[in-house]
Amino acid sequence: MNSKFVVATPELPDAKHLKNTVEKLASYPTRNSLSAHIKPACEWLADQLRPLPRMQVEVMEYTLPRGRRVPEDMPSYQVVATLPGKTDRRIIIGGHIDSLNLEVKPEEGPAPGANDDASGVAVVAELARILSATEHEQTLVFVAFSGEEQGLLGSTALAKRATDENWKIDAVLNNDTVGSSRNLAGQKDNKRIRIFSEESENHQSRELARIAEFFIRQTMQDFRAKLVFRRDRFGRGGDHTPFANAGFNAVRFIEVHEEYTHQHTPHDLVEHMDFEYLAQVAQANLTVMATLAQAGPQPKNVRMQRADHHATRLTWDVIPGQKYVVYHRETTSPIWEKAVPVGEAKTHTVDLVNVDDHIFAVGAEYGIPVEAI
Ligand SMILES: [Zn+2]
Repeated sequence: MNSKFVVATPELPDAKHLKNTVEKLASYPTRNSLSAHIKPACEWLADQLRPLPRMQVEVMEYTLPRGRRVPEDMPSYQVVATLPGKTDRRIIIGGHIDSLNLEVKPEEGPAPGANDDASGVAVVAELARILSATEHEQTLVFVAFSGEEQGLLGSTALAKRATDENWKIDAVLNNDTVGSSRNLAGQKDNKRIRIFSEESENHQSRELARIAEFFIRQTMQDFRAKLVFRRDRFGRGGDHTPFANAGFNAVRFIEVHEEYTHQHTPHDLVEHMDFEYLAQVAQANLTVMATLAQAGPQPKNVRMQRADHHATRLTWDVIPGQKYVVYHRETTSPIWEKAVPVGEAKTHTVDLVNVDDHIFAVGAEYGIPVEAI
């Protein structure tokens, strides 16, 4: 299926590639960030990414500061691979390469971490492969975080670096625990992925989640995003949050029915996963990333007013040559109900849609829209 609202991608994610990556990562005795295995696991992943065209691959060393689950300051490693675009605006996709076993002494116990979170890293690696085949407007960054299980330490280090180096980040897509479609209670959902997002004055993570849901709905026949309007699961955390806290738009992708008893144990195994489902999750991410990668800058001064009694008129500042899309929804609807491409217009009137009862937004084509005020 094709749509004027999303960018077609050259290739679909391959369940076999995803499985190979998960199997390899799960074959390390552990990928605990404090263990001797984290660096070889990062080096292995970096070696997979280095042959990709234009890809700049770094095994980033940083310090795990002493704290909960870290006995003393020590170095650790994570992978940051950058695909330069025509602009220095960035789209980041990440998963965490580290794993954890809380049943025994954490650094030593077996921790296959197949679903949590070799699944996310497999999505990152597969998208790097597919997206490096074509050129993009935005710079794309593919990250395998570590230190997640010790308190989001790798993502905190990278978010700090992004701030220090003035990175312009449009979106962070964090994929953590995305490869299983069922739990042991018999619940199953292989047609949806949850996207968690936070509402804030300081970033547009909620708008990122909403447009991600829209892009997925436009392109995928039988797969949908289930939006959850929370920062993360109850009492839990993820690598998108340090970026959101630094003011960047950042969301978390996660399967619908987690099996909590497998997490952080020797039982987080490849055999419990569903690689056809993981391929669908990868396709959802690919649609979102490839589309945002072609977006122009967000419009400024997006305003709405009542027009002709029963219509709503939108106005915004245009950039010459840039195409725009007008969106609207009922005030109680979590998702965009209608989208209208308006080309290079600087104003658009939506007939018979009342300004009082609807939320309107305008976005650059392929971009995160801005709600009208
Ligand atoms: Zn995780």
